[in-house]
Amino acid sequence: MDKILEPTVLTEIESRRFLQKYHINLNKAAFTTSKSETLKAAEKMSFPLVLKVASKEIVHKSDVGGVVTNIETTEEISQAYDSVYTNAAAKGIHEDKIDGVVLQEMINGQEEMLVGIKRDPLFGPVLVIGLGGVFVELMRDVSLGICPLTKVEILSMIKSLKGYPLLNGYRGRPKLDVDALVLLCEEIMHMALDDERISELDLNPVMIKEQGKGAIAVDARIVLTENDE
Ligand code: ADP
Ligand code: MG
Repeated sequence: MDKILEPTVLTEIESRRFLQKYHINLNKAAFTTSKSETLKAAEKMSFPLVLKVASKEIVHKSDVGGVVTNIETTEEISQAYDSVYTNAAAKGIHEDKIDGVVLQEMINGQEEMLVGIKRDPLFGPVLVIGLGGVFVELMRDVSLGICPLTKVEILSMIKSLKGYPLLNGYRGRPKLDVDALVLLCEEIMHMALDDERISELDLNPVMIKEQGKGAIAVDARIVLTENDE
């Protein structure tokens, strides 16, 4: 019997759980389904915080006003909670379609990067690295490499980006933690080589900090496809 293989798109929180199984370092986050639960979750976190809508129907949370950053007080958490529901409703997304919210610690990186995996039917996992935001969208500034890759190969992928000078102290800017970025790329490469169900993995953005201070993903999206056996 032929089986139809439906890919499963994991939400941010499901993707985070998956990444944690592989011990990938992420910012502190909690999934909650009511305002009181969200305020309680905040007690174990440090401000500033970020609150995001969680829904299987919403792929790009910021497009629907579903991401509030720079939350400094409990009062602001409460306002952010209401506003993501109101903003979603304004886009025609009813409350029933919203699973809850993700409250998480805000990470101030120097630059936003994109790190991902796309599984090619012929080549297997392909590592994708790019500068975040406008660089990826406008300039298609990404670099691709067929896995497995060595540390040296990953580093040269990063160096081949047009925006690389921004990571390397361009015009008096600080040098950023490229070593941590290489390590993160290696980890997700191993994850994709280990689990063949991973057909897509997107860490967008990865916040890259100054040298020695790390690189950390604050949004994650994984697509799984079951093997037909
Ligand atoms: P989506 O990609 O679904 O729109 P994201 O979770 O990537 O949602 O959030 C959108 C933007 O908000 C990010 O590109 C980043 O600029 C900012 N952001 C999200 N989470 C954080 C965080 N924890 N710390 C700092 N900035 C964040
Ligand atoms: Mg994102």
